[in-house]
Amino acid sequence: MKPPQTSSAHVLIFPCPAQGHVNSMLNLAQLLALRHLHVTFLNTEHTHNRLTRFADIESLLARYPTLRFKTIPDGLPEEHPRSGERAAEPLLSLKVHGKPLLRDILVKEKVTCLVADGLFAKLANDMAEEVGVATIHFRTIGASCFWTYFWAPYLFQSNELPVTGEEDMDRIISTIPGMENLLRCRDLPSFCRPNRAKGEPIIPLETIVSETHQTLRARAVIFNTFDDLESPALFHLRLRFPTIFTVGPLHLHRACRAPTATNTKTSNNSMREEDTSCMAWLDSQPLRSVIYVSFGSITTMTRESLLEFWYGLVNSKMRFLWVVRSDMITAGEGKDESVPAELVEGTKERGLMVGWVPQVEVLAHKSVGAFMTHCGWNSTIESVVAGVPMVCWPYFADQQVNSRLVSDSWKVGLDMKDVCDRNVVENMVNDVMVNRKEEFLQSAEKLAILARKNVSEGGPSYDNLDRLIEFIELISQK
Ligand code: UDP
Repeated sequence: MKPPQTSSAHVLIFPCPAQGHVNSMLNLAQLLALRHLHVTFLNTEHTHNRLTRFADIESLLARYPTLRFKTIPDGLPEEHPRSGERAAEPLLSLKVHGKPLLRDILVKEKVTCLVADGLFAKLANDMAEEVGVATIHFRTIGASCFWTYFWAPYLFQSNELPVTGEEDMDRIISTIPGMENLLRCRDLPSFCRPNRAKGEPIIPLETIVSETHQTLRARAVIFNTFDDLESPALFHLRLRFPTIFTVGPLHLHRACRAPTATNTKTSNNSMREEDTSCMAWLDSQPLRSVIYVSFGSITTMTRESLLEFWYGLVNSKMRFLWVVRSDMITAGEGKDESVPAELVEGTKERGLMVGWVPQVEVLAHKSVGAFMTHCGWNSTIESVVAGVPMVCWPYFADQQVNSRLVSDSWKVGLDMKDVCDRNVVENMVNDVMVNRKEEFLQSAEKLAILARKNVSEGGPSYDNLDRLIEFIELISQK
């Protein structure tokens, strides 16, 4: 590692305004600031207000003197929900309204390198090119899904796309290099489906594909993954994108390089209020006896689906800690909203439902035996780091691919995909927690060891971060 000295590079980090994106990109910001690069983190006002309320931004600023925040409006009215099926609207609004604001900041702040969320690929490329700033894209999804997005046009050429209907869903996709025969139609990103889940934010596949191909114009791509986790996709990606930096798992990488920041509010980059009472509850539960359930920050579900999960969990007789966000349930249809007595009773005996938790700490807790997850990339990689097996219920976007990796590539859990049924929930929870516990635990522990090796001194992610910093210094010298 170089001796501490302030760098002449000035990096602007621009995440999509959503929890998972802010989370991982803020971890990268800290790793760069730790190495004395000047970093400006560009949030929307709405995101920044939430971070200021619920994460410890002041400690972050005190700890990293070269880190600053700047904000821009997302162009939406204050009362806009920015969640559920309208979760993509801040992104779409920024693509329109953000151009002059981004351009202004790049120029006025004398930015030398823009690290932009790949969801803003075209906007970032155009603006940075116009003012002569080098651009790197950060993809907050895994490399395998990025590769699938990249390959989608060729799936139309080989007649493997489009997916025509339900009867087509188990058809095998055989031509994605490195991922041959891994994905069925139902494992493709949700944007490839003819029918989408209720409440799912709508982004056309063409938009996703064209933004993905825009990354060919960037100087480099950063992934929050590690080489041992996604080597087949990374091998093929590296043939197309010569400069890829795999620096993940970023939350672990940051915790290893800046150890005193773990287990503080700062470590969570949270945009919601954490209910930390769950930690005391976990303390009082037996070893690996709890299934932790969370579907991330965006997923919505109907009340009927909620009840299927609830019955499944209660009937499994396992202890459970369940994150039920206040905005998670889609509006009911005026039906009876009372909760059946057996669910109330079962929850009182063995469960805890809370609004939001410090997830990384929860997953690391010795009482947690498995994670029922929507397979957002952050949740997936956090579970991998913690060595916790998963039961997957993917909702949209990359999650369909991620859950296939969990069940079929890494073999660290089960994939419930496209089914929301109390018996399936009960059986899968029992399989992961009891019947096939040892098998999943062994694979999960092996992956967790690999994750740690990758971010330890001499590991690929560790070295790649050093290379990334050198690369930023280099491209910052015009
Ligand atoms: N998260 C959290 N507390 C919760 C639920 C989620 O801190 O109660 C965090 C989780 O650790 C992860 C992020 O929110 O880092 C969710 O990102 P992910 O990519 O998994 O899913 P998304 O919310 O984008 O669908």
